[in-house]
Amino acid sequence: MAETPQGQETLSNLLHESRRFPPPEDLAAAANVQADTYAEADADRPAFWAKQAERLKWEQPWDRVLDWDPPFAKWFTGGTINAAVNCLDRHVDAGRGDKVAYHWEGEPGDTRTITYAELKDMVCQASNALLELGVEKGDRVAVYMPMIPETVVAMLACARIGAVHMVVFGGFSVDALGTRLDDSAAKVVVTADGGYRRGKPSSLKPAVDEAVKDRPAVQHVLVVRRTGQDVDWTDGRDVWWHDIVDRQSTEHTAEGHDAEHPLYIMYTSGTTAKPKGILHTTGGYLTQVSYTHWAVFDLKPETDVFWTAADIGWVTGHSYIVYGPLSNGATSVMYEGTPDTPHKGRFWEIVEKYGVTIAYMAPTAIRTFMKWGEDIPAGFDLSSLRVLGSVGEPINPEAYTWYRKNIGGDRTPVVDTWWQTETGAIMVSPLPGVHSGKPGAAMRPLPGIAADVVDDKGESVPPGGGGFIVVREPWPSMLRGIWGDPERYKDTYWSRFDGLYFPGDGAKRDEDGDIWLLGRVDDVMLVSGHNISTTEVESALVAHPKVAESAVVGANDPTTGQAIVAFVILRGEAGDGGEDLVKELREHVAASLGPIAKPRQIMVVPELPKTRSGKIMRRLLRDVAENRELGDVSTLTDAGAMDKIRTAFGSGS
Ligand code: ATP
Ligand code: MG
Repeated sequence: MAETPQGQETLSNLLHESRRFPPPEDLAAAANVQADTYAEADADRPAFWAKQAERLKWEQPWDRVLDWDPPFAKWFTGGTINAAVNCLDRHVDAGRGDKVAYHWEGEPGDTRTITYAELKDMVCQASNALLELGVEKGDRVAVYMPMIPETVVAMLACARIGAVHMVVFGGFSVDALGTRLDDSAAKVVVTADGGYRRGKPSSLKPAVDEAVKDRPAVQHVLVVRRTGQDVDWTDGRDVWWHDIVDRQSTEHTAEGHDAEHPLYIMYTSGTTAKPKGILHTTGGYLTQVSYTHWAVFDLKPETDVFWTAADIGWVTGHSYIVYGPLSNGATSVMYEGTPDTPHKGRFWEIVEKYGVTIAYMAPTAIRTFMKWGEDIPAGFDLSSLRVLGSVGEPINPEAYTWYRKNIGGDRTPVVDTWWQTETGAIMVSPLPGVHSGKPGAAMRPLPGIAADVVDDKGESVPPGGGGFIVVREPWPSMLRGIWGDPERYKDTYWSRFDGLYFPGDGAKRDEDGDIWLLGRVDDVMLVSGHNISTTEVESALVAHPKVAESAVVGANDPTTGQAIVAFVILRGEAGDGGEDLVKELREHVAASLGPIAKPRQIMVVPELPKTRSGKIMRRLLRDVAENRELGDVSTLTDAGAMDKIRTAFGSGS
């Protein structure tokens, strides 16, 4: 298992999953992308991407599709394009101005319906306002906002005038905001008085006041009034959005920007280390985001209602709430708040209300819904749904089948999409009209994407083998670097394997050649000489009827090198655990995966440490299991969770 014929360590292949879900016949017959596209793309990848780039409106056509000076790629060089024009003007000019761009739903229940024509007017006004505030092409603008339409407007206004947006998740602390302001030297911060979360207004402006106090580079703070809370005001620096934006002209003539002009900086989630400021540029990014949104979700812009239930403050929101759906002229839902406000059926109520046809969310949300029970979605009409997507972490097979059955009515394909902030867009995913879904597998590199699973030496593993996921050739939406740190770019992604992009995730290839993601390389456990994936042990635990969610880490162990320590959250009806249950769970893992994977310890905990984007921060659990100080917690959702876990661990319960 762990030993290959060459004698090197690869990931053990422990989990076996034989359920298959073929695509519905009508969906397959009418699918946007058919199986022959793979061969077409393989024959000439740059030519394939050039064809996809023609989906967009270019002001000036490109001279060269790809300029590859490893590890630096430029796509569509010589071309000029405006991302905001592609998201707005192009549709309005084609007579689709009355089409709804967003059905926005505020957490308290207030709603706004915004058409493409209205959004274009708002973006032109905001562009003119930013210009009046002195923002110039190439300047950075921080966006620290709740999930409201003005967030999208601010981003697109930046894109329109060639300023670089840097969205900072609205839940982040003063420190997290401050370090990002330093890093980017932002000239303007766009914010709001506050937003609604968990049933009450939460404030944003005080954090901005604190963060910009000692940062003179920030010349203006542009403030949207959302909650009506009292705010402190610094005359000359602070400007109300409604004062400056509303009086602007709705005319703004956009220029084409160089295809490689910076579009935005977005920080990674901070799951494995201090967040990295990832730079994306314009032409290649928009090409791949637009193509993947259309291909992976089988988007029919005329009839679909698309909903990414994520925050715009992470890359999924950038690519699949803003740039993908708008460039494709789709109608999207945008929701401000949390899934349990005012009740645990809020997401399903939204699906029913707007007739959502495609929904895209994270496994962490799906596992939460599992914990709450299937009766909740059963109370709503979800029959409009036809494709479901998952992103952010490996989806446990049990969570996948739960999602498909209870949300998708056992009829919708589920696409598990693997990608990263760095990749900009989806890279590995089944296509809903082509593949029979396998619960837990991201399956295939998309057409035009040269992803592979390799061993320690960078050689492709055969079917049945395990190792690392890599990308062999540049792709259009790849990061162009880490903002202000070219060395870290090379070290992090290009030093592990010669000439291969290394994302840092473990993966295996099954007997059919399909790819399964197995979690972070940093998280892989080495137990008695076997490399074991945290994902597989977690999936085995989640498959137990009493477990809703689990996180597994390898902790130092005198006999086995590392030993498996598992943290579990129980399903609502399962009680508090106790010694018998812990014993049962340990046996259950051994029975599903083999004795090598039997956890040394299982702790029942009320919560797990997660990033703001909903990913389990195993490194913090490892710090607890090995009795260390906690590492970087700047992106942790709830610091209190760690105290409870440390207490539980300390008392050995
Ligand atoms: P940091 O890089 O700061 O540690 P992060 O990697 O969590 O944080 P993101 O870019 O938001 O930051 O997340 C990308 C990572 O999320 C991937 O590298 C992978 O580990 C995980 N991921 C995303 N989608 C999937 C998926 N469908 N299956 C498995 N893992 C996924
Ligand atoms: Mg990462």
